[in-house]
Amino acid sequence: AVLLKKQGFEVLISEESFIEHADSFNLPAGVLVETGGHTKAVFESDFIVKSPGILPRSPVLQECKKRGIPVFSELEVALAFAPKDITVFAVTGTNGKTTTTSLLGEILDEHCQREGKGRQTYVSGNIGTPVSSVVQQLKPGDFLVIEVSSYQLEDSTYFRPKYACILNVTPDHLDHHGGMKNYIKAKAKVFKNQRETDVLVLNGADAACAQISGKAKGELLAFSTHPNHLLKTDVFFDGDEIIFSEGHQLRPPHLKGIHNVENAMAAALMAFAAGVSPATVQAVFDRFHAMEHRIEQFAHHGGVVYVNDSKATNVDSTVTALKSFDKNRNIWLILGGRDKGASYAPLIPLLQERCKRILSIGEAMDKIDGELGSSFPVTRCWDLPRAVDYAFENAVRGDIVLLSPACASFDQFKDFEERGRAFKQLVNTRIFASRMDGNKK
Ligand code: ADP
Repeated sequence: AVLLKKQGFEVLISEESFIEHADSFNLPAGVLVETGGHTKAVFESDFIVKSPGILPRSPVLQECKKRGIPVFSELEVALAFAPKDITVFAVTGTNGKTTTTSLLGEILDEHCQREGKGRQTYVSGNIGTPVSSVVQQLKPGDFLVIEVSSYQLEDSTYFRPKYACILNVTPDHLDHHGGMKNYIKAKAKVFKNQRETDVLVLNGADAACAQISGKAKGELLAFSTHPNHLLKTDVFFDGDEIIFSEGHQLRPPHLKGIHNVENAMAAALMAFAAGVSPATVQAVFDRFHAMEHRIEQFAHHGGVVYVNDSKATNVDSTVTALKSFDKNRNIWLILGGRDKGASYAPLIPLLQERCKRILSIGEAMDKIDGELGSSFPVTRCWDLPRAVDYAFENAVRGDIVLLSPACASFDQFKDFEERGRAFKQLVNTRIFASRMDGNKK
């Protein structure tokens, strides 16, 4: 709304739910706001910019479609106001987007600084800063790295990044997209408009990536850490170093889990394609550290390690987190929140190899019980404070307490960040109380 108003458009914001004090939002003068339902004014618009969370089958959008009113994504509307000769990099995938986007952003930033020509790198999109709020700062020649969600892609018709990457496509957001087929179709939109001179980076061991790879129009580059892959790959991992078919070898960043080697491979392939040197990529890999809420080891007390993986909002990312630990059956796994429609069954073998007990929380407790309770011990804890209390009282030296919920946070928290911070606060408070208690004794 801010960008369009600045560009001279008449803007109406229309929101289905009622929002108190909507008039106190920091909006430019003249932007109209209606909340508590959509009025006919919506259908008088020349075009609609859809917020990614709104279901495509919602009645208001159906009506717009019937009336022939075009619906665009924020992403493509924002890019319409960018200088023509910027270079756009887009990273999508079910898991690993933020890590890969940040890595690539840092690599390109380092490249720009070493190059010393005044070119700048901007990181935006689903990672936090909307493209529409950076687009006016862009100058010709700049790099724009965008983390793109399937929701944003689903709404996009004209989006065309020069360098696109799909990290993996595993079940997530199925409730929103109405099934796996539509979800894969949304992801494939990241390269739908690419041309011969563009570059697409895919996960060579991912079934969905392999399935859609035939539609690539530009240069196709694939990565994999698995010996058995479905696509011919341009890079492999020997257990120590990442080896590229062009001949360079890089030490991966100091991040936990083989999935992060894959994220590093993807970022490096995009960077090399854009002309970045191996030395620049290595310099960034060497200084890059774990990101908050992503398998983040933040505390230890009495020989117990506490790990915050609140960003694991789907089953596959919890599978990934569990795989990054040894098979010691020493993990107390805090699981649950708002269910997203996928089965929890893929967790069973990993639970049996690596975990002690599930501490279930949130709306998904019944489904977790139903799908996992007969194969693995589950204690219903209802919420995070009770799960932390239970873990704190029962974990022994050598154990790991892991919040990797496989669910969205919205049943009990504003977002995954609030959930992760609440977890850290609860654990740190218990540790502090226990130390004080120890001093007293
Ligand atoms: P996203 O932005 O796609 O949610 P993040 O980089 O924030 O991804 O990582 C979130 C979680 O997803 C991590 O904590 C980890 O458990 C899992 N994950 C990260 N990268 C990968 C990957 N390449 N493959 C599978 N799972 C991953």
